[in-house]
Amino acid sequence: MRTASREQAIAVSELFGPVIQGEGGVIGRPTVFVRTGGCDYRCSFCDSLFAVLPEHRGSWRKMAAEEIFGEVRRLSPKPILVTLSGGNPALQPLGGLIQLGHEHGYTFAIETQGTVSKPWFAELDYLTISPKPPSSNMETDWEKLDRCVGSGGPHTDVLLKVVVMNDADYAYARNVATRYPGVPMYLQVGNDNPPGAAPDDATEPDVGGLLNRYAWLAEKVVADGWNDVTVLPQLHVLVYGNRRGV
Ligand code: SF4
Repeated sequence: MRTASREQAIAVSELFGPVIQGEGGVIGRPTVFVRTGGCDYRCSFCDSLFAVLPEHRGSWRKMAAEEIFGEVRRLSPKPILVTLSGGNPALQPLGGLIQLGHEHGYTFAIETQGTVSKPWFAELDYLTISPKPPSSNMETDWEKLDRCVGSGGPHTDVLLKVVVMNDADYAYARNVATRYPGVPMYLQVGNDNPPGAAPDDATEPDVGGLLNRYAWLAEKVVADGWNDVTVLPQLHVLVYGNRRGV
């Protein structure tokens, strides 16, 4: 068996749960979140700037895999799905944590934008790759994305998820689906009013706008006959608003 290092420090922005997963292919599942610090992107609609911007680095804890897993077990003594989020969690050495959790019956999902692939992706139970559409103002490197999509192991469910804010994002999502036939695809409406980076930020989401955009996207998918895609709301925003740690 490959031995992943459990000693390397992992930058953790927040660790919380169990809560209900509000996004992607495991939406609705109870999960503990490990949100890592640091990201190679700066998306216009980012709702986790406190885990992205270097000026928040001082609030990120450097933790070993054992320490993180100890916190996960404290939050959920029974095995549960652990969601590795960020920031971009692919920037962190998470292989040891996954190995340790698997030894105790925990399962692991990651959400990453598809810019960096790591050998330990093959140990994941769910690999959700969320390439960023034009409204993010980020450019997709398709070769890097190819590598990420191909990096799951024999027991990894690989999923694609694209946030859609407008027609250009929708066209991008169709392009992604065409490039990776056979990979389950999820569309998710975006939040026009994401929270700022401050912990006490009181920004409220435009729930009515989110529901209208969901109706627009659902109608568009049906009218297009795009029948093998799943259209999701941002469930956690509808239920919890922009609150952190839920
Ligand atoms: S990839 Fe994710 S965490 Fe990074 S800036 Fe974009 S939305 Fe934020």
